[in-house]
Amino acid sequence: MKRKIGLLYGGKSAEHKVSMQTALAVTKALNYDKFEIHPIYITEEGEWIKGAQLNAPAENVKALEFTSNTLPSPEFSPTVFKAEEGPLDVIFPLLHGPNGEDGTVQGMLELLNLPYVGNGVLASSAGMDKIIMKNIFAQAGLAQVNYLSFIRSEWDRDQDNAYDQVENDLGYPCFVKPANLGSSVGISKCSSRTELVEAFKEAFQFDRKIIIEQGVTAREIEIGVLGNDDAECSVAGEIVPKKDFYDYKAKYEDGDTGLVIPAEITTEQYETLKELAIKAYKALDCSGLVRADFFLTSDGKFLINEVNTMPGFTPFSMFPLMWKHTGVEYPQLIERLVDLAIERHKEKQ
Ligand code: ADP
Ligand code: MG
Ligand code: MG
Repeated sequence: MKRKIGLLYGGKSAEHKVSMQTALAVTKALNYDKFEIHPIYITEEGEWIKGAQLNAPAENVKALEFTSNTLPSPEFSPTVFKAEEGPLDVIFPLLHGPNGEDGTVQGMLELLNLPYVGNGVLASSAGMDKIIMKNIFAQAGLAQVNYLSFIRSEWDRDQDNAYDQVENDLGYPCFVKPANLGSSVGISKCSSRTELVEAFKEAFQFDRKIIIEQGVTAREIEIGVLGNDDAECSVAGEIVPKKDFYDYKAKYEDGDTGLVIPAEITTEQYETLKELAIKAYKALDCSGLVRADFFLTSDGKFLINEVNTMPGFTPFSMFPLMWKHTGVEYPQLIERLVDLAIERHKEKQ
């Protein structure tokens, strides 16, 4: 029997385009002798569209938009998770950012009692909120940069006080980020008060909460974690931004950011990195997969930057490439994630 995979992608999110690219790549990698693909597309406006079952890879991103194939009612309905013969076997939420990677979709899938790939509600939502995530990491004893957070109403009441606090507690350079986002959207590096003011305004356009972090000069080392209770780590990778920092354009448009895999770190450093990544994985109660991102400072210390509960997942993204170098090819990686989803679902019953 073929497994019926519901590919859920697109989404009402700043990372919509990234999700589309990933969905396209996944349709190309899956083995159609083993799997049936049932595409479920969420438009940028939040409409749900169910495409016809794919029996061959989609040709391009446009083909996955199914503009002429809208459901009778474009509103969400749980029937999108059904094939003609019954429920889908597993849902693969290829969604990044809010309304996808943040526990909302995961909660809906829990209620529908459907197995789904990746992290559960708690890990997804805690991992999406950089403030909550960092608070949990601090509690777990993981080293990280100093940070402050503000909600919009606090800032509205006394903006100068907020800027003074940043200057007194963190200094420059600092990074201002919306709490709930990814792909570097809304993030600015600041070296002066003028830039700080602009950065606050920018970040508050995306979220009612923002985080400000001390800027560090460090190498960016990442590692993939895969599994449920007994998770394993991939080889490490290093990001070598050609620009000042790894911003949205560098991530998805320029395509010339250097990814060095495996990262050139010592065996001892790699062992430490694995331990820290698993510690972070457990602290957030992750399952399925995570890409754990660290800063490696010039004095050899790893500071955790973040975990991404649905990391970039095209065949050219860091997470799949790190697994490829570890011996797990892209199609196998997808199959492994599907197995993990089903395993976790069974354990809960
Ligand atoms: P996202 O979830 O959008 O990827 P990150 O927190 O990883 O957000 O920040 C994006 C990039 O900005 C990082 O990959 C790094 O290049 C840079 N950056 C973020 N925070 C810091 C920091 N505190 N010090 C130095 N560089 C940072
Ligand atoms: Mg992130
Ligand atoms: Mg990041």
